[in-house]
Amino acid sequence: MPKLPYNFSIATLCVAASLGLTACDKSMPPPTAQQEPSVSTQAVAPTPAQAIEFINQAERSLAELSIEINRAEWIYSNFITEDTAALSAAAGENYSRETVKLATEAAKYANVKLDPVNARKLMMLRGSLILPAPADSQKTAELAQINSQLNGLYGKGEYCFADGNCYSQPELSVMMAQSRDPQKLLEVWQGWREIAKPMRPLFERQIELVNEGAQGLGFKDVSELWRGQYDMPAADFGQEVDRLWLQVKPLYDSLHCYVRGELNQHYGDDVVPANGPIPAHLLGNMWAQQWGNIYDLVAPENADPGYNVTELLAEHQYDEKKMVEQAETFFTSLGFEPLPDTFWQRSLFIEPSDRNVVCHASAWNLDNEDDIRIKMCIQKNAEDFSVIHHELGHNFYQRAYKEQPFIFKNSANDGFHEAIGDTVALSITPSYFKQIGLLEQIPSSDKDIGLLLKQALDKVAFLPFGLMIDKWRWQVFNGQISRSNITKLGGNYVIDIKA
Ligand SMILES: [Zn+2]
Repeated sequence: MPKLPYNFSIATLCVAASLGLTACDKSMPPPTAQQEPSVSTQAVAPTPAQAIEFINQAERSLAELSIEINRAEWIYSNFITEDTAALSAAAGENYSRETVKLATEAAKYANVKLDPVNARKLMMLRGSLILPAPADSQKTAELAQINSQLNGLYGKGEYCFADGNCYSQPELSVMMAQSRDPQKLLEVWQGWREIAKPMRPLFERQIELVNEGAQGLGFKDVSELWRGQYDMPAADFGQEVDRLWLQVKPLYDSLHCYVRGELNQHYGDDVVPANGPIPAHLLGNMWAQQWGNIYDLVAPENADPGYNVTELLAEHQYDEKKMVEQAETFFTSLGFEPLPDTFWQRSLFIEPSDRNVVCHASAWNLDNEDDIRIKMCIQKNAEDFSVIHHELGHNFYQRAYKEQPFIFKNSANDGFHEAIGDTVALSITPSYFKQIGLLEQIPSSDKDIGLLLKQALDKVAFLPFGLMIDKWRWQVFNGQISRSNITKLGGNYVIDIKA
């Protein structure tokens, strides 16, 4: 999910990174006429004592508001009506307004020498906005308008085939996953991207406005603000991700080579050349960011592990609650305390038949203490069994930092929360199924290759994609990619990503 101001949404949604250019916009604060003095207008340098007083006051205010917004969001997500939507939007607006105010105020103390704890809190207050608006109220309104237009264009975007039938992005994504007709796949891939053309001028203006906003908070540009959240100077962060990427790159190169070979056999030289990049539209995903949907085309022979978790769950009479209880034991077996009673009383496991709810799986912490919950419409299948483990990873992490001061009650950085859940989900192996009594015998290890390839198609293939998108964004927002080259990173990234 897009990064939100800390604790803006305690619900940690687990969304496959959609990476639409407007993805960040949801967290954009609403238009506000508030104008705070910029750094340069500060006549007398503030003292550390004043800075600490400000931080403490900000922390109290945000802690209070966060509970209000959590409750409003929870009610909205569990009972979708016009009224709950309005209440939730109002709470969100309230919280956003306060966050903008505090970030701007925090910028005044940017040069004050503070102890490490307060310096970090101040940095988090300053850096909490994703797309900061300029102080000028007209520009703030213009930015809000642009964000809303971009969201609308993206959300309502569709592609119409020559027969007149039009399809939305989720529908087109199903085609990308299921079709094996290279011509149709190419048409869908290219057709969906037509929606971006009217977005371009809006996006270009958005870049100017949010950079101006970032400058008002004491950053060079938004790129520096984004890269400055990782406990190292912003300039070092890009190098650090390069260093990490180079460690994984040999595995990605092997995966790429193997998949290209299999696709070459399936489609022939004209569609998938034996060398060079893989045409991105053949990888089963609208952004070629995860390739698991083409597992059937590239599956090794004799790699079927011989069991089906969905069937095993049914055989062992697992209902939704039992699936969650089983996932809880994963964590208690690691030494964590069991989930509180309120978790079981207040979570949503089953899609209600009498009202609309947001079914997308999410993990919540309502009171920033022990009121942790999950909300999902559990299907009794293998995928959801894994998702439950992932969601509980969020809950156990949330509870682990509950004693922290409010501003620190969040992931160590914005990658960490998802990483915990995903790492836990990697432990859902055949031997785990045996341990919990679902499987009688662990398949021989030569069957692991299919399971590992499936994981790699989604997880390893995503890494260069994620890196490329972030590098592109950093460079667009700091001006290294010029406006005329804004679409430069296109087709060939699947193999050509450079560290
Ligand atoms: Zn998640």
